[in-house]
Amino acid sequence: MSASPHDAAATGGAAEGRDQAAEILQQAAELLAECTEAGRLARARKLVDKVTFAVADDELVIAAVANYNVVVNVTERRIQHGCRDFRGQASERRLCKHVAATLLALEPQRALAVARELAEGARAPVSGIVVPWRFEAITRFTPGG
Ligand SMILES: [Zn+2]
Repeated sequence: MSASPHDAAATGGAAEGRDQAAEILQQAAELLAECTEAGRLARARKLVDKVTFAVADDELVIAAVANYNVVVNVTERRIQHGCRDFRGQASERRLCKHVAATLLALEPQRALAVARELAEGARAPVSGIVVPWRFEAITRFTPGG
């Protein structure tokens, strides 16, 4: 009795696609873990459902997360955001939960691509071959203020 490779293929399809997406997202999360730490990443996962995108392109991501805006300019390697945690950590280039949630809410392939860039930037040697990301604190605009 020989195992048929067709059996596995016949039961694959959509479920396999979902598994693959989950796997890619997991890879993205592991890369993001290099740019923040476990506690923030866990909180970020709970915020993913609250992320709404104004723009979600390969080069630029603009999102709103729980009253905060997150701008990720992939081309210029710049993240703009304004929560207290982000402002406190901006000099160390650590991600807060809002930024991490925004990235995890992207399509898996896109999330992985940005996470790779970020992790690469975080590992950037002093030699400066890899351009580090810039974290810019932005404040929220208040109408009439
Ligand atoms: Zn934040």
